[in-house]
Amino acid sequence: MTDDRDFSRQSFLGPYAEELLADVRVTIVGLGGGGSHIAQQLAHVGVGHFRLIDPDDIEASNLNRLIGATSADVDKATAKVDIAERTIKGIRSWASVKTAKAKWQEADHLIRDTNVLFGCVDGYQQRDYLETAARRFGIPYIDIGMDVTKIGPEFYAVAGQMIMTLPGRPCMRCLGFLTPDNLAKEENRYGDVGINPQVVWTNGTLASLAVGAFMKLVTPWFANTESFTWLELDGNNQTVTASEQPQYFPREQQCPHHGGADGLGDPFYDLRKTKENDSRA
Ligand SMILES: [Zn+2]
Repeated sequence: MTDDRDFSRQSFLGPYAEELLADVRVTIVGLGGGGSHIAQQLAHVGVGHFRLIDPDDIEASNLNRLIGATSADVDKATAKVDIAERTIKGIRSWASVKTAKAKWQEADHLIRDTNVLFGCVDGYQQRDYLETAARRFGIPYIDIGMDVTKIGPEFYAVAGQMIMTLPGRPCMRCLGFLTPDNLAKEENRYGDVGINPQVVWTNGTLASLAVGAFMKLVTPWFANTESFTWLELDGNNQTVTASEQPQYFPREQQCPHHGGADGLGDPFYDLRKTKENDSRA
């Protein structure tokens, strides 16, 4: 029988990485072009517990980027969460997968006890709400998004970002990614946005950055000393750089939003410390 727990090729992650990953719970909100990539990669690295939330069924226009989807899924209008579950189980049959074909606000039971929350949603307002939920439950939040902007008659700029924020530390409002101005502009554009362009390779790059940030959080291979991460992808030149926008922001400042420092907790780090302490006993 195939050994489906052979992680020898990623043993550099640390002696307890396999166990940590098998124990960790992740929630992915949005199982489209970005979220489906993240789900697939997290299954490959050996994450043991998934919670998947998305209200939508697949449509023909999703097939240009939705990882694991088939033309038969389009014919059957398979739920996106079911496609992601099938992808995960096909890689790791032992993974526990809970799904909700619902808006994430109606599935908070799949968020509140998770260890890391991935947001793959459209729009600034949804991101703000989702990060607020992550703060409420004391969970690290990893967000990805891409945009295509027409900046000339025949010229399009492809761009994206991956942002990781931690409870109590600078949030997307602190960093200047979410501003009253861009939230208000989005509200005014509502209903007039049209089709949001999305492509598989850009989504794949952003998903890989998100999974990399996650791996730095959960496994000991790379000491994560940053209080946040904001990487910007220039999709035209295919470069990834740390955003310069928060350069004047005091990196150790406590976040004054989302209720400030009250009610904070980080179950994720406790998990790791407990395991490391066990090993020394
Ligand atoms: Zn803040």
